[in-house]
Amino acid sequence: MTTRVSTLSRRKVLEGALKGSVLLALPVLQLACGKKELVCSDTAGLTQDEIKMRKTLEYEDSSADPAKNCANCQLYKAASADQCGACTLLKGTIHPKGFCKSWAAKTT
Ligand code: SF4
Repeated sequence: MTTRVSTLSRRKVLEGALKGSVLLALPVLQLACGKKELVCSDTAGLTQDEIKMRKTLEYEDSSADPAKNCANCQLYKAASADQCGACTLLKGTIHPKGFCKSWAAKTT
């Protein structure tokens, strides 16, 4: 009986290690495939006021609500695929999956 518990425990440990190694390998595999994650949070070239506005409106490159993101915001100006877009309200680069407190549903 002790041996069985020990074997089961070893199996769980090995399964956990396998799952962990797969998760750790995903970013490496993405880089190896040449697919980089889009980052649009660079504020280089912006004035202090423009940076402050991004912070005040809590702009982030991701959205907690999948139904509300920059790509479906009325103020978003899309760029080409896999590129940062722009916003008529906030200066700087804007992630299509980003979000800020001024999100407004796209009507057209
Ligand atoms: Fe994104 Fe906010 Fe600009 Fe809308 S107003 S596009 S949510 S940054």
